[in-house]
Amino acid sequence: MKRILVVEDNDLNRKLFCDVLSANGFTVDPVADGQNALQRARDFVPNLVIMDIQLPNISGLDLIARLKSDPVLRDTPVLAVTAYAGKGDEERIRDVGAQGYLAKPVSIGPFMSTVKSLLAPGPQNVAA
Ligand code: MN
Repeated sequence: MKRILVVEDNDLNRKLFCDVLSANGFTVDPVADGQNALQRARDFVPNLVIMDIQLPNISGLDLIARLKSDPVLRDTPVLAVTAYAGKGDEERIRDVGAQGYLAKPVSIGPFMSTVKSLLAPGPQNVAA
């Protein structure tokens, strides 16, 4: 069973993501506080990380960059979720190494298809 780490400070979004992923057969580990995200990722060793970009105290961009510099986690695909859909934002998110990108509000259909494509074998080069 594939494991997905869900880093999202918003309670409703975090619950929605986890409920939908669980219903689709994934094992989820929810993280509300971004400052715990790296340690939880090291403990959980997820197959995919879903990362909210707007977190209190720490930027999701910084967290993605740290994941991508971790020897164990660097190859784990990251799906970034952000409230801002500006073109510069998407470039910054992809520049730090996220393979997928979705703008909030997130619809379940595109969310699940992006998750599944990021977990599929082959080149991690997904347009969200
Ligand atoms: Mn947030």
